[in-house]
Amino acid sequence: MQPSSRLDRLPPYLFAELERKIREKRAAGVDVISLGIGDPDTPTTRPVIDALAAAAADPGTHRYPSNRGRPELREAYARFYQRRFGVELDPDTEIVPAIGAKECVFNLNLAFLDPGTAALAADPGYPVYTGGPLLAGAEAVLMPLVPELGFVPDLGAIPAPDRERARIMFLNYPNNPTGAVAPDGLFERAVEFARENEVLVVHDASYTETTFDGYVAPSFLETPGATEVGVEVFSLSKGWNMTGWRTAAIVGNAKALESYWKLKTNIDSGMFEAVQLAAVAAL
Ligand SMILES: *Cc1c(COP(=O)(O)O)cnc(C)c1O
Repeated sequence: MQPSSRLDRLPPYLFAELERKIREKRAAGVDVISLGIGDPDTPTTRPVIDALAAAAADPGTHRYPSNRGRPELREAYARFYQRRFGVELDPDTEIVPAIGAKECVFNLNLAFLDPGTAALAADPGYPVYTGGPLLAGAEAVLMPLVPELGFVPDLGAIPAPDRERARIMFLNYPNNPTGAVAPDGLFERAVEFARENEVLVVHDASYTETTFDGYVAPSFLETPGATEVGVEVFSLSKGWNMTGWRTAAIVGNAKALESYWKLKTNIDSGMFEAVQLAAVAAL
């Protein structure tokens, strides 16, 4: 048996390594408080569970789903983005459901990277921004999050050779793990950078709905020109206590979504339609 050399490119998955350490400490009798993987500790709300139960009982949801997602779900995202962010999205071309932000972030690497190219990934950052490019046969170029700049990357400091081979830039605000929110001007600078360097901006919006002290997080797509150069990955996991449900969406640039969708139809067969209808109830 010979696993592919692709797997040798991966560092041990960070969370798997943390879990191993936690297990070890617990076995040794230590009362461990895990600051590892983030997972809401309150249940999903009743109306969402009820919507799932009703939809699961309907045989109409039992067959292969469409990878484009049910129209109700795409329309629910469009209404949500309009109401919450003032962003207009075309449900037919600018919204595709994803089986979690993780699936989406990973597959974007396969859809956009070739050997010799790279993804720009914040350091520290969500591990899939670096593991994804490696599994796609490409490289991850780390962009240090600079405390003096409010924990954002210094886009001007990215060396020319890295700008040239970069095809994707991953951003994530509110940010995991720093907790930083996007400072004024960051998204505008990202749009400018993307135009100059022909890079697709992928904004991971996993935490826009989990802010506090009155702060309301923006969508990247509110930025002028953002839809021309970027996409946003929006997940129900954290904001709706739905990490186990595997439900998210990619929204924004129609051409980028078409490439993602083309890849995805070869990899999975979409999201269980009962989960899609539960997501409609959540939104
Ligand atoms: C939790 C998390 C995700 C994963 O979201 P899913 O929709 O559950 O796959 C993605 N990005 C960041 C930054 C996260 O913290």
